[in-house]
Amino acid sequence: MSEAGANARRLGVVTRYKEHVGAFSPAFWEVKDVSGAWVAQPLGAIPMVSCFGDNRLGKAHPEWIQIDQAGTPATRASRYFDWTAICPSQPAVRQLARDWVRRALEASGGSDLRLDDVTYARQGYCYCPACVAGMAASGLDWSAYRQQTLTSFVEEVRQIVPGSLYLTLYPDPYPGHLEDRFGLNVDLLKSLVDAFITPIYDLTYSTTYWVEDIAHGFVDRLAGSPWMIELYGLDVPESAVGRALDVAAFYADRVLIAYERDLDKLKRLEARLQGG
Ligand SMILES: [Zn+2]
Repeated sequence: MSEAGANARRLGVVTRYKEHVGAFSPAFWEVKDVSGAWVAQPLGAIPMVSCFGDNRLGKAHPEWIQIDQAGTPATRASRYFDWTAICPSQPAVRQLARDWVRRALEASGGSDLRLDDVTYARQGYCYCPACVAGMAASGLDWSAYRQQTLTSFVEEVRQIVPGSLYLTLYPDPYPGHLEDRFGLNVDLLKSLVDAFITPIYDLTYSTTYWVEDIAHGFVDRLAGSPWMIELYGLDVPESAVGRALDVAAFYADRVLIAYERDLDKLKRLEARLQGG
């Protein structure tokens, strides 16, 4: 993906508002989110599918929830997680996730797609029966097995998605962390996806040095692979998100603002990006 010229100064969005689609590029739409809800996207939006985060499925199928070695489920109620993590080693879960991808592409009328929550919950997850059996059969150690499980899932999705494939990465660029904490082997995944996207969220961005540290870490970590930063926008003071945008745009190929509803604010932020 080339980000040359004026196009590189476009602002992207993650949005729930139809009027934003077409006004910003790219415009991602959460067609299936971590609650388990399905919200059909308007034409022109790139669907985002939360694959292994799903509160509703976790309730219906507790046997699909990721667990640690002590059996603690990866849910909001039992740990500090923000949603329920279901397990990518479960064949039924993988099948559902691929079905969501197909459904999203059919509904969008487009060819691009973003994978969200393709991840293990944290280090220590998952030791469900499917993971334990899968790891034993693979002959791999625990970390390698998890990386293989997620890489093969992205390979399966790559076969389904004809256009650009985007993948969300947790904002932890420390060497080895994406691999060992989350099961994401960036070096293998970079040949499968067209761009990575890293959410770096805050409700105030009252300081930005940490945005810069994370962003600079990813520049080193991804070594030239196309990459976007996603900032949180809703109800964040415009001057603060603007400063974070300045930092993010220095390091990333593209910056997205997520969940902001105010179209005029987004347009002013895009003008700021373009030096206006
Ligand atoms: Zn598992």
